[in-house]
Amino acid sequence: GLKKKADPTGPQKIPGVDHIIAIASGKGGVGKSTVSSNLACALAAQGRRVGLLDADVYGPSQPRMLGVSGRPASPDGKTILPLRNHGVTMMSIGLLTNEDQAVVWRGPMLMGALQQMMNQVQWGALDVLIVDLPPGTGDVQMTLSQKFQIDGAVVVSTPQDVALLDARKGIDMFNQLKVPILGMVENMSTHICSNCGHEEHVFGHGGVAAEAAKLGVPLLAEVPLDLQIRLASDGGAPIVASQPDSAQAQAFHAIAKAL
Ligand code: ADP
Repeated sequence: GLKKKADPTGPQKIPGVDHIIAIASGKGGVGKSTVSSNLACALAAQGRRVGLLDADVYGPSQPRMLGVSGRPASPDGKTILPLRNHGVTMMSIGLLTNEDQAVVWRGPMLMGALQQMMNQVQWGALDVLIVDLPPGTGDVQMTLSQKFQIDGAVVVSTPQDVALLDARKGIDMFNQLKVPILGMVENMSTHICSNCGHEEHVFGHGGVAAEAAKLGVPLLAEVPLDLQIRLASDGGAPIVASQPDSAQAQAFHAIAKAL
């Protein structure tokens, strides 16, 4: 049959990258980066070739979570070599700026940096590129969805009403941009006391499941609020990489299986 010509003005694919999946949240601090890094490690454990682009320009946390540091090399002065750890090929805006420096770029510079990370990083052959987005519904999300062929978005939220309200806005934005919603993840869903085993719902429980049902999108997982998850991320080896068989890692494996 006839080969479909790519529309040069429409969303582009990255050569060698089969799928691009965006991880989004309405609010900051709900665990979007934690889900991104653990999902990347879970996909790698399945034998997929995985990349992770940390596009959270205002708070890039993937260098710490994946335990990488140092300035990425650019041997030819044009392309950038990604870093690699835990089976994940990664690049972060945090590696291109000083750690303690606030990103005070104007919109166009930000968009330039984003496109540079998508196009000029030598991602190699990947089955999946996970993009850890900044929270909210701003320029980065819009540019990414319009310039690149995003296969789908995963929306992370805590069960609280305030977080859900913003998550809903994010889903509405993706609908408008014609990016399919692959599903929602409830993070910090439940907490089991490590001393006594008592289960508490610090931020409520089930709010995301109800919202997902209302919107007709899958609930991909409920991730517990758990000290080990936080310690693992802070230590540079996400729980899926450091304790792949732990109960805490199972929720992330479930997301990887569902995608
Ligand atoms: P976001 O990317 O949405 O801003 P992060 O993934 O950076 O959120 O998470 C914010 C903080 O909460 C981090 O310190 C992270 O380790 C911690 N955290 C996230 N999810 C969990 C969880 N399920 N259990 C314990 N700590 C978590």
